[in-house]
Amino acid sequence: MGKKADIKLIREDGLRHDGRKPDELRPIKMEVGVLNNANGSALVEFGKTKVLAAVYGPRELHPRHMSLPDRAVIRCRYHMAPFSTEERKSPAPSRREIELSKVIREALEPVIFSELYPRATIDIFIEVLQADGGTRTTGITAASLALADAGIPIRDLVAGVAVGKVDGVLVLDIDQVEDEFGEADMPVAMMPTLGRITLLQLNGVLTPEEFKEALRLAEKGIKEIYKLQREALRKRYVEVSLEE
Ligand code: ADP
Repeated sequence: MGKKADIKLIREDGLRHDGRKPDELRPIKMEVGVLNNANGSALVEFGKTKVLAAVYGPRELHPRHMSLPDRAVIRCRYHMAPFSTEERKSPAPSRREIELSKVIREALEPVIFSELYPRATIDIFIEVLQADGGTRTTGITAASLALADAGIPIRDLVAGVAVGKVDGVLVLDIDQVEDEFGEADMPVAMMPTLGRITLLQLNGVLTPEEFKEALRLAEKGIKEIYKLQREALRKRYVEVSLEE
């Protein structure tokens, strides 16, 4: 962040380097139930960012002494595939991946009725197939679909998006270039119906007014993402059962 980009992040015509309006999301694709051997799964793409989420469980937790008597243990692993970045990333978990696994788990845990499954575990795997900014929020969006696909009772879905400030302009759904060369980036995840925030991080500098505006922008994006999540679930369940 902070470095000067060779390309203009906001062009003369007010549009972004990829032609988007400041409040426009990247083209989004979502598909639920893409894996045979997981209990639930989803593939979500935001522009060039592609993330796969798989959920196993609830199932018995081994070793048993790690289980909890009153609820399920939620475990989460965020991982970037070696081929997901321009320079091949080491497959070994980095500090960044360990930290992201924790914040993503914390972003998803509040929606799961884990008290229904004492002594069990629910495992969430997030595999970044292609990284171009916003992989944590895309991972959260995909994982909440995978939880729903696994039939795990949840209070709401969770949807996420990163907003940023580039060339002094607040923009929705930043990509890698905007993340790298912009002045601030703020990933947000929310329960769209209940309106509760489950992840909020800020790198860089915003004024209090910009922060409020950035949050409003994130909320607008999250509402749009939520609509697409519902459509993806409907496609998987309602339309499939009508066809049968
Ligand atoms: P997020 O993907 O949630 O925005 P970061 O802000 O940490 O997380 O990363 C921004 C982008 O930088 C990523 O989406 C990815 O495109 C790129 N990136 C992150 N880590 C690496 C890495 N180890 N190697 C190459 N590119 C990376």
